[in-house]
Amino acid sequence: MNTNYNPESGKAGEFICHQEILDSIAFAKEKSADKEYISSLIEKARECKGLSHKEAAALLECDDPELVSRMFEVAREIKEKFYGNRIVMFAPLYLSNYCVNGCVYCPYHFKNKTIPRRKLTQEEIRREVTALQDMGHKRLALEAGEDPRNNPLEYILESIKTIYSTHHRNGAIRRVNVNIAATTVENYRRLRDAGIGTYILFQETYHKENYEALHPTGPKSNYAYHTEAMDRAMEAGIDDVGLGVLYGLNTYLYDFIGILMHAEHLEARFGVGPHTISVPRICPADDINKEDFPDAISDELFCRIVAVLRLAVPYTGLIVSTRESAATRAKVLELGVSQLSGGSRTSVGGYAEGEEDAEDSAQFDVSDRRTLDQVVSWLLDTGHIPSFCTACYREGRTGDRFMQLVKSGNIANCCAPNALMTLKEYLEDYASPEVKAKGEALIAKETEKLTHAKVKAITLDNLRFISEGKRDFRF
Ligand code: SF4
Ligand code: SF4
Repeated sequence: MNTNYNPESGKAGEFICHQEILDSIAFAKEKSADKEYISSLIEKARECKGLSHKEAAALLECDDPELVSRMFEVAREIKEKFYGNRIVMFAPLYLSNYCVNGCVYCPYHFKNKTIPRRKLTQEEIRREVTALQDMGHKRLALEAGEDPRNNPLEYILESIKTIYSTHHRNGAIRRVNVNIAATTVENYRRLRDAGIGTYILFQETYHKENYEALHPTGPKSNYAYHTEAMDRAMEAGIDDVGLGVLYGLNTYLYDFIGILMHAEHLEARFGVGPHTISVPRICPADDINKEDFPDAISDELFCRIVAVLRLAVPYTGLIVSTRESAATRAKVLELGVSQLSGGSRTSVGGYAEGEEDAEDSAQFDVSDRRTLDQVVSWLLDTGHIPSFCTACYREGRTGDRFMQLVKSGNIANCCAPNALMTLKEYLEDYASPEVKAKGEALIAKETEKLTHAKVKAITLDNLRFISEGKRDFRF
């Protein structure tokens, strides 16, 4: 009996109810062999109205090759319908690796004495941002450990100001997403007022007991405070929040169900689901061995998780980082991923100084070590449009305004031309000659596909203006 479960409750133990997850796992195991039921779920997903956590779990547990291949097919269809062939690019920026928490899977945990601790000064942040702008980035995810003495909120706010105010040549960071520790409603208000894009916080695992074992010390050890962070962020008026679990910390099915329950909770309580879901998985780093994590997931399962997420939450952006190899990233792009990091440095100071000098302080090993230009080149070769768009948040299209536009399908009238115009900026300012030639050919082809006559005419004008040196057009 499941009396405790309440998706509308603000209490972690009620919206992420352990018994409900166990019941859902049992349901998934039982139903995964029922081909007729699984087929009906795949057809339901095709209508793009999403799936419940129980239904999605049953799909994920089904390993019938024919049904899995149909799931992949529908995931591709949904991806095509909402996101087309566009991939939004971003880069992480590590401000500080000081941290008072004891997360056993992260080399920044406070007991690790082999890692050099470092926090960027505002001048160093300007240098990092200049280096990122010179690569072509417009959208950052800001990362910092939790340390009230070394990285207080004032430091984060000052850093955001520095990032937005740094302009090198035609460069500008137009959207700063923020991934910092769970905090108070008051502090979330201050982050909102600083103009952040998405507030990102990974749950790591939804399994309370395992969570407490993995986070033995520090403020992050408080499971309820961490799990209820998105509620406080939304209460503070941050409309766009990004969820994630670190696959491999716990059994995948438990956390897969947990993250969908979290999404359902935000929808039930605030009327808006998560803006993004990230899908990181355990990878090696200083002081961290993959062998210590027997629940680490295979590439094949990773692909299925991405595909079923695409079916379950069609309106939520899916993000993969450079933790994944180029080959894996290629596979999951097709199955539903809509945002990619590129040319990433996961160390403090890694962009201006080079990863070799800063790599002792890296949070995790990067698998995809290609430069941003190489990633852009690869995306162009595979028929994708690398997009540096940041328009929605700057146009006030956040939260439910954003979701309504996505659900109606009208967002494509913004995303497609914005992708082409921001790609054009990239080609003009940062691309190698070879990439520029490929990109121009793609823009010419893709502009022809714009169906809205007025949007097409404005886009063509703006593309010409960008060639003439003007910047920052958006729908
Ligand atoms: Fe600190 Fe975050 Fe690493 Fe935990 S995961 S040790 S909170 S930086
Ligand atoms: Fe994202 Fe909005 Fe730009 Fe589309 S128009 S790529 S949804 S920021």
